[in-house]
Amino acid sequence: MTIHATLIPGDGIGPDITDATTRLLEAAGAEISWDRQLAGMAAVAAAGDPMPDATLESIKRTKLALKGPLETPVGTGFRSVNVALRKTFDLYANVRPAKSVVPGLRFKDVDIILVRENTEGLYIGIENYVRIGDDDRAAAQSIAVVTRYGAERIHRYAFDLAVRLERQKVTLVHKANILKYSQGLFLDVGREIAKEYTGKVEVEERIVDACAMELVTKPERYDVIVTTNLFGDILSDLTSGLVGGLGLTPGANIGRNAAIFEAVHGTAPDSAGKGVANPTAVMLAACQMLDHVGKPELATRIQQAIEATLREQQTVTRDIGGTANSAAFTDAVIAKL
Ligand code: NAD
Repeated sequence: MTIHATLIPGDGIGPDITDATTRLLEAAGAEISWDRQLAGMAAVAAAGDPMPDATLESIKRTKLALKGPLETPVGTGFRSVNVALRKTFDLYANVRPAKSVVPGLRFKDVDIILVRENTEGLYIGIENYVRIGDDDRAAAQSIAVVTRYGAERIHRYAFDLAVRLERQKVTLVHKANILKYSQGLFLDVGREIAKEYTGKVEVEERIVDACAMELVTKPERYDVIVTTNLFGDILSDLTSGLVGGLGLTPGANIGRNAAIFEAVHGTAPDSAGKGVANPTAVMLAACQMLDHVGKPELATRIQQAIEATLREQQTVTRDIGGTANSAAFTDAVIAKL
């Protein structure tokens, strides 16, 4: 059955790495009908809007998108594309796996799936300055909002994922010792949800600072991590670093109304247009997408070809110590299918 999905090539290295990915998917026999749409600076150039209605309409229709990185214009009054997508499609779960594949790195046994709450916490955007005397910006405050509804669904998502993937353990990462209300509610709800999974998966708790330390001393002890928006944002870049960098780690944004798959990295302006970027992160995001739509065997076959190519180190891109360009790496992965 043909999969209908929206394809947003994106800005910078986006077109190169999404082209490489669609070529790989076609070679693997994935039957996907892409609806190509613009967003980011490419859409500003074409339509004067970084998130055109046609793109949102396409995702509403397909409920599925593969997205290249987007440059959000700074200080121009344009709305943020990522915020628009998260709000429109209520993309509450950001799932970022990081797995040791590239040889020769400090750690060999990292296999962590970080599940980040994507819609609440400190990123909710309630901020203001406080005027004292003549100083309009004498102080500033940002409010973190955690709801029972939001905490329940992200914890349930993380535990369901752990059970489905036969993972051993879920770690609830928090700062409830200091932020007793917002983080306290997140942790309390996590403990309640964890009871529903007793006997199915192990659960433990970590304060975020201790977790950060352990992630760089013994990352192999972590399995699935579930945490709030800000901590997830920071720790997931950290876990990318453990396995070889941003060129390797994908991210799924799962919502009630749609799912959008992308690389964790940005537009890499220094490599744009040169054909040298590493397409691995978007390729792995496409594997997450296939898994999401019920094609796990195909996803695994493609992932294994990518991993075999990375492990061999014969034809890999510069960011991980090779000399190959994006096209040569893609050919090497296709040859391994
Ligand atoms: P970046 O991720 O684009 O680049 C950071 C470093 O990693 C650079 O040295 C870059 O060359 C390298 N890199 C990243 N991806 C790579 C790849 N696939 N292959 C090889 N090297 C790679 O981060 P940045 O420079 O801070 O941001 C650039 C732009 O991207 C900004 O406009 C930012 O807003 C945007 N951005 C978008 C997203 C998104 O759309 N999801 C995410 C992050 C940043």
